[in-house]
Amino acid sequence: MDRIFGIDLGTTNSVIAHTDANGVTEVITGKDGGRIVPSVIYFPKNGDPVVGTNARQRTITEPERIAKLFKRGMGERTFLPDEEPFIVDGKTWSPEELSSLVLRKLAQMAQERYGEPVRRAVITVPAYFGEAERAATQSAGELAGLEVLRILSEPTAAALAHGLDHPDEPGRILVFDLGGGTFDVTIMDVRADGAMEVVATDGDRQLGGMDFDELVVQKMIKMASEAGLDIATEPWARQDAYLKAEEMKKELSDLDTASRSLTGSGRPLQFDLSRNEFEGLIKEKLREVEDTTLYMIENAGLQPSDLTMVLMVGGSSRISAFQKLLAKVSGREPAFSRNLDEDVARGAAMLGAKLGGELDPRTQLAKIPPPVDMIAHGYGVSTLDMETSRMINSIIIPAQTQIPIEPPGEETFYTAEEGQTQVDIMLNEGDGEDLDFVKLVAKGSGRFGRPVPRQHPVRIEVTFSDDQTVRLSAYDGESGAFLCKLEVERPGNLTKAERLKARESLSRMGVK
Ligand code: ADP
Ligand code: MG
Repeated sequence: MDRIFGIDLGTTNSVIAHTDANGVTEVITGKDGGRIVPSVIYFPKNGDPVVGTNARQRTITEPERIAKLFKRGMGERTFLPDEEPFIVDGKTWSPEELSSLVLRKLAQMAQERYGEPVRRAVITVPAYFGEAERAATQSAGELAGLEVLRILSEPTAAALAHGLDHPDEPGRILVFDLGGGTFDVTIMDVRADGAMEVVATDGDRQLGGMDFDELVVQKMIKMASEAGLDIATEPWARQDAYLKAEEMKKELSDLDTASRSLTGSGRPLQFDLSRNEFEGLIKEKLREVEDTTLYMIENAGLQPSDLTMVLMVGGSSRISAFQKLLAKVSGREPAFSRNLDEDVARGAAMLGAKLGGELDPRTQLAKIPPPVDMIAHGYGVSTLDMETSRMINSIIIPAQTQIPIEPPGEETFYTAEEGQTQVDIMLNEGDGEDLDFVKLVAKGSGRFGRPVPRQHPVRIEVTFSDDQTVRLSAYDGESGAFLCKLEVERPGNLTKAERLKARESLSRMGVK
């Protein structure tokens, strides 16, 4: 059977891992010696796209040929929700296609390591990702030629990886994930049998390591301009400043001071930064993170003292100011893993091993139940409320239902008029009865084949399967005859025809 890989498809960095039958997980190292692949793609004028560290180097010289941060656009037509689409050499690239190139690069690394093609994977997504984003991730996998066995939420993956290293009592874990461009904070329940589930999640889609780099660069620019050097308007000097700002930021996670030589207006300038000064620069961000975290704990109906563990993941959680902040907020020392950049991919690989069914039953991993994911929104159909004579959304599957939904959610409704020959069915995504606050995601109609009396039963089934798709089937409640089937249309995602076409053209392309 083909091996199953775990993939952390990150906004900034991506990682691929594999767990063997003994429950031992290996994070795969690329030819260049790196295990962390920047989610950056460079499109050279001629030749195949370049993914990762080598692409990142081109950010300075050819920014218009670089795609990055496309994860933020998953589930949207364009590159980012409110930005221009990414176009290079006349081709418009969807976030799904760009993501598929990163997946191809990771699969290639794994293929070089194991000498066999990579066909099956578990891919992680942020807990806040809705169905459209999850479906887009699923299709990115398919475009890369992968069978995506499961979409797993990132905090669940991290908790799984960490939990196995440090078997824990049942309780509530807060997973704090501060990456390069996004901040997510999630509360998970660990049940007595070891199963985990997401209870609450929040965050900020526009807050992360990049913002801290930016604040350091602003300080560099100011200092340079006081010394009569121009960094701000010289593209080279500016890009150089960004690279150095990130290096210094990382150094300050270990050391008290960092120093670099900058260049502006053709002259060098020494720039020093202490850890204290750095923490002063990011003070505002620290406050935002604190507010979001406290608000989410409160919203989940919990007290900070209810938390049994705080787990730090994401590269930016190495910044000591955030560790101190979390210790203050939760009243306990945050937990870390040795390789916090790799935990999400490791957790995904572990789930992959469980799904593969070849794990040695004596391993601890084989003993715990697989983690449980949920849908963020509910599904219902528009019906006429007899009492008020108003149309309402009748919920069939409530929000926070564990997926996959098996057996389907099921409800019987009755026709409103005498002699109806068909029913119109509207499937809504949302949580309340009020139609103003739900989103119509699919509609269709089914024929009875004869006029039926008023109050004729119609049975509706709704499922949410592992392929991240919601499906509705309607049956005649009396005869059991099939009436119609609806599948959610995602206007922001590629259509089936577009996916086939993209897969075809992508398969002719290599990645480097
Ligand atoms: P994502 O989940 O967004 O793909 P990561 O979790 O890989 O991102 O985090 C990447 C971010 O972490 C970058 O902004 C990087 O500068 C930052 N980072 C990595 N190592 C350190 C460190 N030692 N100190 C501070 N920030 C770091
Ligand atoms: Mg991440």
